[in-house]
Amino acid sequence: MDAETKTCPLCAETIKAAAKVCPHCRHWQKRWSLQNPQVWVGIILLFYLAAMCVLGAVVEKVFGAKRDFSPYQSEISVLSSVISHRTSGTNHYVTVVGVVTNRSELAWEDVNLEARCFDAAGKLIDVISGKGDYGGVPVLAHAEAAFKIETRAAQPMSEYATHKVFVSWGKDATSWP
Ligand SMILES: [Zn+2]
Repeated sequence: MDAETKTCPLCAETIKAAAKVCPHCRHWQKRWSLQNPQVWVGIILLFYLAAMCVLGAVVEKVFGAKRDFSPYQSEISVLSSVISHRTSGTNHYVTVVGVVTNRSELAWEDVNLEARCFDAAGKLIDVISGKGDYGGVPVLAHAEAAFKIETRAAQPMSEYATHKVFVSWGKDATSWP
């Protein structure tokens, strides 16, 4: 064997030193040549695997289990709230505005509130929930947020003696959609 030749590592035939592919067994002499179709198969497989990982993460994000709000419910509390009434045409509305505080480490993009309204005897006469036009309130971690919830009044204005606001539900700001 002179300097112009080498031995194919696969079939052990003597071939030209400059040969990229062994003429006897088609073995690629340089493993990482971009001309080697086997390298391309490897690159395509890697891209495919990466795409599958991204797709899996998206599917998990969209369809996977959402963070359970229950353990955090007590960490969001209502600091203050004020009830008011307004009339629009023949419709009578009852509105509660207030401030909630979030002591948890998590941001909540959708905190729903429920105001229970009682008459002078302490009977529950109306409920205002944070759904609809005045939907969930976004609350950052360790922050406060103002809210407004409103509904068509179920009772005459004079019946509303007291009210209390509860945090009913929250959606984790990191979840989709
Ligand atoms: Zn060979």
